[in-house]
Amino acid sequence: MRIARIAVTRHRLPLDPPFRPSWDFRPRRHFDATIVRVATDEGLEGVGSGDDMLGFEAHAHLFLGEDPLRVERHARILANIQFHYGRCWPLDLALWDLAGKIAGQPVWKLLGGRADRLSLYASSATLRDSGAMAEAAERYLAAGFRALKLRFHRADWREDIGALEAVRARLGDRMTLMVDCNQGWRMAHDDARPWGFKDALAVARELERLGVYWMEEPLHRADRTGMRTLREATDVRIAGGEMNRELHEFRDLVEARALDVLQPDAALVGGITGLRRVAAMAEEAGLLFTPHTWTNGIGLAANLHLAAGIADPPFVEFPLDLPEWGPERRDFMLAEPIRADGAGTIVLSDAPGLGIRLDEERLAATRIG
Ligand SMILES: [Mg+2]
Repeated sequence: MRIARIAVTRHRLPLDPPFRPSWDFRPRRHFDATIVRVATDEGLEGVGSGDDMLGFEAHAHLFLGEDPLRVERHARILANIQFHYGRCWPLDLALWDLAGKIAGQPVWKLLGGRADRLSLYASSATLRDSGAMAEAAERYLAAGFRALKLRFHRADWREDIGALEAVRARLGDRMTLMVDCNQGWRMAHDDARPWGFKDALAVARELERLGVYWMEEPLHRADRTGMRTLREATDVRIAGGEMNRELHEFRDLVEARALDVLQPDAALVGGITGLRRVAAMAEEAGLLFTPHTWTNGIGLAANLHLAAGIADPPFVEFPLDLPEWGPERRDFMLAEPIRADGAGTIVLSDAPGLGIRLDEERLAATRIG
C-alpha cells in the first residue's frame, strides 16, 4: 500500500459574537482550520489538523509513493521540514488515522490501549468578573465536570486571585482547580513581558493556599531554572511545555526537573509519533503527561487517543467555555462534535483510526484555500 495523494485545504468559520480568550487581547472574529488528507492507492484516507502546514506543498513529494505505515520515517522528514520551514505535524495525525483504518483499530489501541476512558478538565478561556466566574464554575459542575482550569491574565494578578477565591468559595472541594498563567509565550502582536520569578512565587503561594492542583506556565518557556526553583518552593504542581517546538526541549525540561506536568500538543509539536516518546520519558521520570489541546476537534481527538493509549493521566484538557467556546465552534469540521458525557469523562470508541468523520458540506461552505 502506498501514499497516492495528499491534499491540504484551509477553512474559516466566522465568529459572531467574537471570542475573547485571555491570552489574546484582540477579539477573534473568525476561527481558521487547515485540514490535511492523506489517501492511499487502495482508497483509504486519513485526516489531520492543527497547525497551518505552511510550506508543506513543496515537500509533499517526500511522502508520495511511500508506505504510509512507516510513521517513524515520516516523522523524521516532518522534523526536517519543521527545522527548515514550518510545522506540518497534522500530517502525522493523518497518518495515524490512516494506520488505524488500515488495521481496523482505533489509534488509542494501536498505541497500547492503556485506558478506554479519560477524565476531562474543562479548560476555560475568557476572563469574567468574580461573580460570573463562580456562576460558570457551578455550570461546569452541573454538567458533570470534576475539574476546571481558570485563566490568570488580568492586569494585576491580585485580581486573578480574587476570581479564584470566588470560585473556590462557591465550589468548596467539589472540583479540582487548575490555573493557567499563560506566561510561557505571547501572541505575535503582544509584546508584554512575562512575570518575573518573584511574581510567580507570590502567585504560587496563593494557589497553594487555595488548593490548586497545578500552576501552568508561570514563567517564560525557556526559564527552566526558574521553573525548577519554583517547583521546589511550592507544593503546587508546575505544568508547562505546550508551545515548546522541539522534542529535545522536553528532554531538557525533564533533566532540569523543571516541571511536574508535561503538556506538549500532538497537533503542534512532534505529532503522535514524537509525543509517544515524550509520554514514555515522563513516565520514566515520574511526571504527569497530559497534552495541551487547544486547536480543534481533530487535534483534540488525536491528543485524547495519545493520552488514553499511553499515559492515562488523571485529567485531559477539554476546551469549553460556553457560550463563547463549545463543540459547535471548536469542532466545526466534524460531523459529530466531541462531547463529554454527563460524568465529565469521555469513552474511547472502537471506531478505526481517530474515530472522527468530517462534515463535508460545512468544509465546502467554509473553504478559503
Ligand atoms: Mg495553557
